[in-house]
Amino acid sequence: MSVGIHIANDFISTAALSSGGDFVFYEQIETPAHDAGTLCRHIADLVQRSAADPNAPVSVAINSGFGGQPSPPNSAPVLANLDVKSALQASLGRPVECIAPAQAYALYEASFGAAQTSGVACLLYLDQNVTGGVTFGQTLWKGGNRLAGAWGHMPLGWPVPHELDGRGCWCGRTGCLESFISAKGVEADYLASTETALTVDEISRAASQNDIVAESVLQILDDRVGRATAMLINMLDPDIITLAGRLASLDRLYVNVPRKWPGYTFTGKSATHLVRAARGDDAIVAGAYIHAKMAR
Ligand SMILES: [Zn+2]
Repeated sequence: MSVGIHIANDFISTAALSSGGDFVFYEQIETPAHDAGTLCRHIADLVQRSAADPNAPVSVAINSGFGGQPSPPNSAPVLANLDVKSALQASLGRPVECIAPAQAYALYEASFGAAQTSGVACLLYLDQNVTGGVTFGQTLWKGGNRLAGAWGHMPLGWPVPHELDGRGCWCGRTGCLESFISAKGVEADYLASTETALTVDEISRAASQNDIVAESVLQILDDRVGRATAMLINMLDPDIITLAGRLASLDRLYVNVPRKWPGYTFTGKSATHLVRAARGDDAIVAGAYIHAKMAR
C-alpha cells in the first residue's frame, strides 16, 4: 500500500484509499509551528501508522518547497525555505514525490469524482489562493516545470480600464487572476464599495437579501470567472471544468458563468460543462494517494 500526504498551513493529513476510492486510512495532525525536524518526525510517524509498504513511494501535496515555485505569503513559517522533498526523503528513507494541492485535487476528481468520465478536465481551485490542475483521462498533466494549472498568476482576460489599476500580487506582478477571483479578491471588492468587511459567505447571503452592492460584486465575479474559464476553453477545450475551494459553494456560478462564454470563447456555443467538485478539500490528500500509487 502507498500513502498520500497533504501538508497544509494548519494541518497535515495522511490517507490511503481502497480500489473503489473509499478512505481506508485517514489521520490528521496539526502542522508544527516552526521546527522542520518536528514536521519530518510527525510525518514519519503518520506514514508508519498508515501501514504503508516499507519501500512504497510517498506523494506529498504541498503549495511550495519543490520545483522552485515561490511560497504564498500566508504559508506556515515551518514551510518557509524548506526543501520538502529532500527533507522528507531523508527522514522517511523512501522516494517522495511532490505535487501542488490543486493538481492532487484534479487527479482525485478525474479518478473518482466529477471528471471521471471526461477526456480533458480542468480543476480551478478558488479560495484564498487561486490554483488548478489539468487531467487527460485519469492522467495528471504536471508539466515540464510542475506548474500545469498555476492559473492564479496569469492576468485576467479582457480587462476593463479600472481592472488595470492596482491589484498588486504577492508574486511581484499586478493584475493576476488571484487578485480578482479569490475569496480575498471578492471580499476586497465588497469592502472597497461599502467600507464593510464581509466574508464571501456573508456577501452571498447579503446578495440573496437584496443587498445590491453584494449582488453587483457577485455579478462582476460571474463575469471574471467567465473570462478566466473562457481562456481555458480557448487553450485546452476541456470537456469539463470543475470548481473547488470556498468560491465553488456559490451555486450561481454554475448558471451564470457558462452564459458568459459565448462573449469570450472562440465558439458561439460551448460543449464544456462547469460543475462543482464531487468532494471537499480532503480530495487533496486522496489525490496525493492516487499519485503515490501511480508512481509505484
Ligand atoms: Zn500573482
